[in-house]
Amino acid sequence: MPRHFWNEAIETLGREQVCALEGPLIAAQIQYVYQHSSYYRDKYDRAGIDPDGIDSHAELASLPFTEKTDIAEAQRQGDLFGPNQCAAFTDIIRMTCTGGSTGAPTRLGWSRNDIDIYNEMGARALWTMGCRPRDLVISCLNYSMYAGGIMDHGAFETLGAGILPYGIGNSERLLEMLARFPARDEGYSMFMTPSYAVRLADIAQNMNFDLRSLNVTRGYFSGEAGLQVPGYRDKIEQAWGMRAMDMYGTAELGVQSGECEHRNGHHYCGAGLVAVELIDPASGEVETFDNEREGELVFTSLRREACPLIRLRSHDIVRIYTEPCACGRNSFRLHTLGRSDDMFIVKGVNVYPLGIQAALLEHRPATSAEFFIELAAPPPIDYRPRVCIEVAASTDASRYAALAGEIGSTIKKRCNFNAAVELVAQGSIASEHKTRRLYRAYLGNAAPAIEVLYRQG
Ligand SMILES: [Zn+2]
Repeated sequence: MPRHFWNEAIETLGREQVCALEGPLIAAQIQYVYQHSSYYRDKYDRAGIDPDGIDSHAELASLPFTEKTDIAEAQRQGDLFGPNQCAAFTDIIRMTCTGGSTGAPTRLGWSRNDIDIYNEMGARALWTMGCRPRDLVISCLNYSMYAGGIMDHGAFETLGAGILPYGIGNSERLLEMLARFPARDEGYSMFMTPSYAVRLADIAQNMNFDLRSLNVTRGYFSGEAGLQVPGYRDKIEQAWGMRAMDMYGTAELGVQSGECEHRNGHHYCGAGLVAVELIDPASGEVETFDNEREGELVFTSLRREACPLIRLRSHDIVRIYTEPCACGRNSFRLHTLGRSDDMFIVKGVNVYPLGIQAALLEHRPATSAEFFIELAAPPPIDYRPRVCIEVAASTDASRYAALAGEIGSTIKKRCNFNAAVELVAQGSIASEHKTRRLYRAYLGNAAPAIEVLYRQG
């Protein structure tokens, strides 16, 4: 099968070789933004930085960070795309939005070349995940505004896979449609969020319908980090009878990472297109790429025309692996540990929603392990945060009090804090959208009103 759309050899390069390759691209991108964006020009002039000298990863580290909030703030002040817009409107052919979980959606503009680059990174990641032109993929990501829909759709097409743009909602109709598809030796593939796969499993159960009869043999997952939580992947693979593969990406820069068949972290697939750095999230200091090092990913676009992003802080905390992989790729791998802006501190203990998810999985099948956390009052969090979890329909109500107590003990043991556990009905939390795990009511982001079946005293 042809793989003519990218240079396969790039995946065999190690970190040093990638940095050498990217040096001239860094120089060109910095010159470009300095000439075309008053935001970057003013920022570098103020910091006394000469853009002519920035031509390596080491030099890149001397530039100030870009925060997503800088762009969002400029849009609130009236910019359509923001101060990093470098291309003329006539060259911008697509607009997408990101976020929404921390405020109003942020708008991004894309030129034709920008979209090609996004598609190439996506195709590299999907190929790593085992996607091939034989795949027929049903995409259940959100096509309304967000990158997961239309943008990733392009990545599948670039690879050569067939893709049906289904979108979100109409879940019963989706299952009925899949049931009418003819048998196919290669099976069918799904592209969705992990929590939607779980939600569909609930819906199928209510319809007395076995997902394993659908001949959906492969799942490509994006949008949430859930598949990296031990046990969650098994639950999805068993319910569907599929092999579930995970992707990591950022909507602002593209889908850059996918798991290979060894499933030992996500191979970074953005070499030569997006430069990546690792920093200490607290100090902002650059970390070296050592095996098992933890830190926050910082991204710099290298060939972006419409809205380049230089040293964008992702706020994603990862552990990286630099040992060569048995698949032959030497690109570094990463495991997502959580988001620094999702982290909260309870009596001095750092808590990530992903850690709580791992603890809750111990309580299947009595619960579905779908959950959210609500923080009522601002830090310091010296109170018991509310942890709301779906109890399985098959669990008898007489068990609720004991079950809530057991869940509280597991959270204490695994995550080291005391939670106020609440049980809610199965199906009331998992959604077809990205399922939100953390609500900060004190910032005006209260959890949705859900009927509580049992509340710990
Ligand atoms: Zn590998």
